[in-house]
Amino acid sequence: MTDNPNNNGNGYHRFHIVAERAPDVEKWPSRFNVRVRRSGLAKLIIKELLHYGPRNKDVILSRPCLYGVFSGPVGGFMPRDQHCVGCLRCTTEFPDFVRVSHNPERRKLGDSFFDFRVVDSVTYEAESGLIPVKGAGYRGKFGGEGWDGMWTDMSEIVRPTRDGIHGREFISTVVDIGARPNFLMFDEEGRSVGRTPHVFQIPLPLLFDVLPKSAASERTWRITARAATELGTLAVIPIGAVLQYNLESDHVAPLVRPGEKDALPVLEKAPRLIEMDGWEEGLYRAIHTAFPESLVALRIPFTSGQELLKFARKGIRVFHLTADYHGRDPKGAFVLDLIRRAHKAFVEAGIRQEVTLLGSGGIIHAEHVPKAILCGLDAVALDTAALVALQARFHGECRDRETSRFSLPRKLTLAWGAQRLVNLAASWRDQLLEIMGAMGLREVRRLRGEMGRAMFMEDLEREAFAGVNGYEPGR
Ligand code: SF4
Repeated sequence: MTDNPNNNGNGYHRFHIVAERAPDVEKWPSRFNVRVRRSGLAKLIIKELLHYGPRNKDVILSRPCLYGVFSGPVGGFMPRDQHCVGCLRCTTEFPDFVRVSHNPERRKLGDSFFDFRVVDSVTYEAESGLIPVKGAGYRGKFGGEGWDGMWTDMSEIVRPTRDGIHGREFISTVVDIGARPNFLMFDEEGRSVGRTPHVFQIPLPLLFDVLPKSAASERTWRITARAATELGTLAVIPIGAVLQYNLESDHVAPLVRPGEKDALPVLEKAPRLIEMDGWEEGLYRAIHTAFPESLVALRIPFTSGQELLKFARKGIRVFHLTADYHGRDPKGAFVLDLIRRAHKAFVEAGIRQEVTLLGSGGIIHAEHVPKAILCGLDAVALDTAALVALQARFHGECRDRETSRFSLPRKLTLAWGAQRLVNLAASWRDQLLEIMGAMGLREVRRLRGEMGRAMFMEDLEREAFAGVNGYEPGR
């Protein structure tokens, strides 16, 4: 679903994601409950009928809602809750007989981290490919825990990159995956000697992470593989599923676990990227021997800087670091701090340019992507956000990667699922462009680790209130 409208015959084309509406296949509880006192509504309709006459019956019966809640076969006598957007016009105009309230059933979607508000945003993004707009202004908090404790600093001189969003200039979301030496060396004849760059590019800093066991099936693997192909990115899929369902392609990164060495020779061609699930010396050597031209990513939970550098010394240049689905490590540290710690370790070792950091876990909102990149990731692998885009239901708290249970709609089809993921990526990329435009940045590679553009609530509060009676750091 990428096209090249600007292909000028010289090989240049502008990356563009074609989003198409993909409405929910499973009926979820409506966001709002609309309750109408029938006698009050009947009086209103009679009054309007006398005023406007019977010719305007459709208009009269649809009042007072612009969104069709009162436009069913019997008008507002059976309001269609699923159309309500919560604008509150009806209750403001007719407080005597209309009541709108949040639907408690809707609040049960997701879990304590991926709460129903995020579910709402992600499902809207996946359905439409558009950016959710909260028309009535933001009435929430401006700071908080986790990602909400970080803000991005917008530049005042942003005109050129604002144009980039609207098509006149270009903001690049291309990222490099692989290894680049810090410098190149040449012999006296000008031939390159020593290490050379070994990278490939993906057009946006989003990948699809391996699905949890409860959501894994032939259909879901095909969905992530197809969406990755249409977006030009990668889907991480266990090597067993890749072979069983014949999913080999440039857009699939097989995930190989210790003990699955024997599956490697069955692959027909060298993947661009192979993920190794945990470190095992023998497996690493086997992958290198079988596919010397492939990049090998080490998939491990976020760990200390020393540990990461130890793997870098063994030759690993691509790291896929994971937190649990709530963005925490076993000690409770949040993914934002974990990313910063990993990035800093490589910066201090002087090899940050040589490695690629992919991350997943706790990155569930469009805004989390630029924040994660600012903290030091090169690209983000989507996990629970992709599941919610596919209308997955959470069973209890879904935190642990191994044991969390999700169920997917029975009507899930390949075309619908792939389109939902493409739409989600389109919306998140547009939001990334917005934030880069506002910062005056022309490419996402320059956003990585750009901590000068990040502000942390804790730091700002300390600067403002340290020494003031009652101030308690971190609260
Ligand atoms: S709150 Fe707005 S959208 Fe919902 S029923 Fe009332 S007028 Fe319609």
